[in-house]
Amino acid sequence: MKYDVLIVGAGFAGAVCAERLAAAGKRVLIIDKRSHIGGNAFDCHDKNGVMIHPYGPHIFHTSSKRIFEYLSNFTDWRFYEHRVLACVDGTLYPIPINRTTINKLYDLDLDEQAVTAYLESVREPRDRVTTSEDVVLSSVGRDLCEKFFRGYTRKQWGLDLSELSAGVAARIPTRANDDDRYFTDAFQFMPAQGYSSMFERMLASPNIELRLSEDFHAIRSVVERQHTVYTGPIDAYFDFRFGKLPYRSLAFEHEHLSNVGRFQLTGTVNYPNDHEYTRITEFKHLTGQRHSGTSIVREYPRAEGEPYYPIPRPENEALFKRYSELAEATPDVTFVGRLAQYRYYNMDQVVGAALKAAEDLTL
Ligand code: FAD
Ligand code: UDP
Repeated sequence: MKYDVLIVGAGFAGAVCAERLAAAGKRVLIIDKRSHIGGNAFDCHDKNGVMIHPYGPHIFHTSSKRIFEYLSNFTDWRFYEHRVLACVDGTLYPIPINRTTINKLYDLDLDEQAVTAYLESVREPRDRVTTSEDVVLSSVGRDLCEKFFRGYTRKQWGLDLSELSAGVAARIPTRANDDDRYFTDAFQFMPAQGYSSMFERMLASPNIELRLSEDFHAIRSVVERQHTVYTGPIDAYFDFRFGKLPYRSLAFEHEHLSNVGRFQLTGTVNYPNDHEYTRITEFKHLTGQRHSGTSIVREYPRAEGEPYYPIPRPENEALFKRYSELAEATPDVTFVGRLAQYRYYNMDQVVGAALKAAEDLTL
């Protein structure tokens, strides 16, 4: 056997498995059909020299010390707490909804306790919270739901809040205090030299061979190996035997603005009700880079295209379950990552899942 393990995909899931397996002495071949490593977390400089994330903004945050310490073997960090404003009727408000949002929107001057009481008076409690609509209505009530959530969700997913599982909207908390950070995790840092540098270091072992612009489907029966780690879409692995699993896609519109030091107040501004795009991100906020110009990206949701988001709703989860039963009956392949596990995972969750998968393979 030439290789112990073939790893399909050089994003977080694939790179973590490659690094761990190589460290355990395995001979690893890792391939990606794209021409670069890093998967969707890939970053690079645009032609004007500004560091951008071609596949949309990636902000690292985790509450897991273990995951943070593991990645710290491959990167230095820059402290960064992401903040987001939502543009509603032409005015910018903090999102997640907090005390400032409520006071500014309704021209009030409530303290924290009064905001809690206000939310209590407008929320529409539910006996069972199963959809994203249940989550939002039961936490902030109808008016805030219509202003901040329904339109954004319709654009992002092409679905109503009531058609999505609770977990989607549950990503966004509601706060009665003034905390305007998007995330509250204990570790909120960006890789100091970028994600791609971190991935290069993860894949530097002599036990790892990397082949880019290589599609699994062209080599699946050619490469001699004992085991496969597959991080692409699970339905594609099984040749769509039960039909296509829906994934949501995006088109990214990148723009460089020369001689504009700063385009917007925060890293991201959301547009829940206006425009075809959901949000604009300005990269210099995230990276701390100094440059006379600035680069931004607008995200336009799409039904077709590269699979970026699994779509969490009961019928999709039922279809995924059928594929995952096939996966369980395929012991020489490990399925791990956002597309292979059809989970709306953040980067740190993918790292956690990949560490576990690699551990299981080296026991
Ligand atoms: P991917 O990064 O998708 O990697 C899979 C790789 O497999 C790809 O490179 C693909 O080319 C390759 N592949 C697939 N099929 C084949 C094949 N047949 N042959 C060869 N190669 C193949 N997470 C956060 O924590 N914070 C954020 O701010 C954040 N922002 C995001 C913004 C956007 C727009 C998106 C889409 C995601 C965001 N995420 C964020 C989630 C994050 O991107 C994922 O959790 C993580 O990158 C998934 O890693 P992965 O390895 O599972 O998948
Ligand atoms: N959401 C919303 N309004 C917002 C921000 C988020 O309705 O201003 C909802 C929307 O359904 C979105 C989900 O919450 O898809 C999760 O948002 P998040 O910012 O976590 O999405 P991601 O960064 O993963 O695209």
